[in-house]
Amino acid sequence: MIVERVYIAQNIGFTVYTFGKGAPRVLIVAGLHGDEVVGVATARILIDKLKNMTIRGTVKIIPIANELGLYIGSRANPIDGKDLNRVFPGNENGTVSERLAAKIWSLALESDYIIDLHGCGELCIPHILTLFISSDKSADLAKLIPIEYVVGSQAIRGQLFVEAAYVGKHAVLIEIPGTRSFRWSIAEDIAMRLLSFLASIGIVKRQSMEIKQKLFKGYVSIVSNYEGLLRRCVEPGAEVEQGMSIAEVEGEKIVAPVSGFVVMVTESKFVRIGDSIARIATEPLQ
Ligand SMILES: [Zn+2]
Repeated sequence: MIVERVYIAQNIGFTVYTFGKGAPRVLIVAGLHGDEVVGVATARILIDKLKNMTIRGTVKIIPIANELGLYIGSRANPIDGKDLNRVFPGNENGTVSERLAAKIWSLALESDYIIDLHGCGELCIPHILTLFISSDKSADLAKLIPIEYVVGSQAIRGQLFVEAAYVGKHAVLIEIPGTRSFRWSIAEDIAMRLLSFLASIGIVKRQSMEIKQKLFKGYVSIVSNYEGLLRRCVEPGAEVEQGMSIAEVEGEKIVAPVSGFVVMVTESKFVRIGDSIARIATEPLQ
């Protein structure tokens, strides 16, 4: 294992852990959002496991991409206020986030597979976001990672996995339940599933897990039109019909605009107008 510090300015940068050499090449990134510590924990568990394994190919892991955000518990970078996962492919002469993105992007360009780890809140089921659900390298990579729910993303530009998929890389984002607060068993479980993926492409030797995935063409984000105290009406993993109540805010019903599976619902008991309430995966493909 090689441990390297990459700097964009004095004391500002990130650490890269490299295992093995040659093809295939995998890049795993966590902590682009500083408040999603569950992804950081998953990456660290994976690093600890890989230390004791024989590696055929290359695995590079950046467990904390946005160190300053992590230190203060903020999604964005505290210096430029930018969301690091909205500025890819970055700019070497830009703001702090844009420079960090440019350094990470150069590692992504050297890689065949890019997996970006995020946290989706306490009330969430693990899911993989792909660029398109059926017919590209992003979808092919999702099939190799044994996580049950696979959802087509909204492909917002500037995200590491979206930009990487657009330049022809196998790239996905994994949403892991938790934020700064999370269960270690979840991080451990996702790390084991990532090991299974590494086994499936021959990088490590172990039995790869087989699961049946549920594919969804896309998802709908529900935001609150009201401000006030929120009572939740559904649990993550619930199947909902169009028109069913997802939550009530100050007695006003917030209903599902589509039928589908609730992959995420807010744990917040107080919301403001525009706050995210839930994410519903729609248009099942199987
Ligand atoms: Zn995130």
